[in-house]
Amino acid sequence: MKFSLRTLLTQGLAGHSGWPEQWRSPEPKAAYDVIIVGGGGHGLATAYYLAAEHRVRNVAVLEKGWLGGGNTGRNTTIIRSNYLWDESAAIYEHALKLWEGLSRELNYNVMYSARGVMMLAHTVHDAQVFKRHVHANRLNGIDNEWLTPEEAKDFCPPLNIGTDVRYPIVGAALQRRGGTARHDAVAWGYARGASALGVDIIQNCEVIGIDRDAAGAVTGVETTRGRIGAGKVGVVAAGHTSVLMGMAGVRMPLESYPLQALVSEPVKPVFPCVVMSNTIHAYISQSDKGELVIGAGTDAYTSYSQAGGLHIAEHTLDAICEMFPMFRRMRMLRSWGGIVDVTPDRSPIIGLTPVPGLFVNCGWGTGGFKATPGSGHVFAATIAQGRPHPIAAPFTLERFRTGRLIDEAAAAAVAH
Ligand SMILES: Cc1cc2nc3c(=O)[nH]c(=O)nc-3n(C[C@H](O)[C@H](O)[C@H](O)COP(=O)(O)OP(=O)(O)OC[C@H]3O[C@@H](n4cnc5c(N)ncnc54)[C@H](O)[C@@H]3O)c2cc1C
Repeated sequence: MKFSLRTLLTQGLAGHSGWPEQWRSPEPKAAYDVIIVGGGGHGLATAYYLAAEHRVRNVAVLEKGWLGGGNTGRNTTIIRSNYLWDESAAIYEHALKLWEGLSRELNYNVMYSARGVMMLAHTVHDAQVFKRHVHANRLNGIDNEWLTPEEAKDFCPPLNIGTDVRYPIVGAALQRRGGTARHDAVAWGYARGASALGVDIIQNCEVIGIDRDAAGAVTGVETTRGRIGAGKVGVVAAGHTSVLMGMAGVRMPLESYPLQALVSEPVKPVFPCVVMSNTIHAYISQSDKGELVIGAGTDAYTSYSQAGGLHIAEHTLDAICEMFPMFRRMRMLRSWGGIVDVTPDRSPIIGLTPVPGLFVNCGWGTGGFKATPGSGHVFAATIAQGRPHPIAAPFTLERFRTGRLIDEAAAAAVAH
């Protein structure tokens, strides 16, 4: 992307100053070649790659609220690619490789930090599962290594490896290339990049209907700002996919759940990496602002509420305090929730639908932030070419009919 004096003055350096505060949504045109529904990271990345790699530039991203106001701006930003099954490893590794060059690609600092993601094993079963992951990942050329409790403490000194606790540490799997990025910067970086290539990014524009012609093909969308014509429509609206697809008469194998996270008061750098405990459902890292970022589990019931149950957060904090006793006196600053859509096999759906011209990208559940660049990249190719990108090909809607599932739920316990 060219960086003129004008962009420097209006948008700031490759950081966050001046954007998106000074940015205004354009008026929608009467029609676009492609409409992307959902201005989260995945939707904006899709629009960016459509314009940058496929030269499809008559594109609009329609967002009912503000950019990144959905799960993109609400997640705990864990990035890793050490998934068990080949299909998952391929898409998350594709994403991780893109993360590694993303700030340069977008000329925007997304603050990707490969500080290492360590996944704790508390039982013999955990240890066996993680060792299986380590071997499977290495066969796929993905870094992952097994650590003893002492090596885990060496990597993350605040970790309590004592044995007189409810959740003793029996070892850990470490992906050193895993880490974090600044979530809203990812949305802004892709938005700015797409906008510079001619994509219209329209906030406060909710899609309330999907229009089809007599043959059933998509012709446009109804929105709170009027009808907008479209040759193709891509739905990337995590948590609300079923509602949108229902507008086109497509039933989705999805359930929506609240998932919550919380941050502490800011403190000096004290936590060097990301630590996850799938068994307990607790995750922790420290943001560049100094806050401890803590992720909890999903609620037990489906809902569209953007707040999770207090008892879930309490359970998570109990576990965090046992694993990291030095945080017992920290105060929590704020908590929030997002709505994640979950498929029966806990893997995403990316691709074509039974409706000609309608494409869908959803079902990332609790773990889609890490996939953002890869998801957008393969979804853009799928939309542009009208057939699945090879990496996206296994993640069809069709698999719930054929039974060819990609069961990361059983493989990973959770999908962060
Ligand atoms: C608390 C929490 C912690 C998480 N932690 C992690 C983590 O550590 N690592 C990880 O990899 N993933 C994590 N995730 C999951 C991750 O956040 C999501 O999978 C990912 O951000 C999904 O991105 P998206 O762009 O698809 O969705 P979103 O960012 O939710 O974007 C979808 C957009 O669609 C818009 N929309 C909905 N309906 C309409 C409509 N009718 N018209 C127009 N627009 C509409 C919404 O307003 C929203 O902005 C977490 C999620 C939560 C909630």
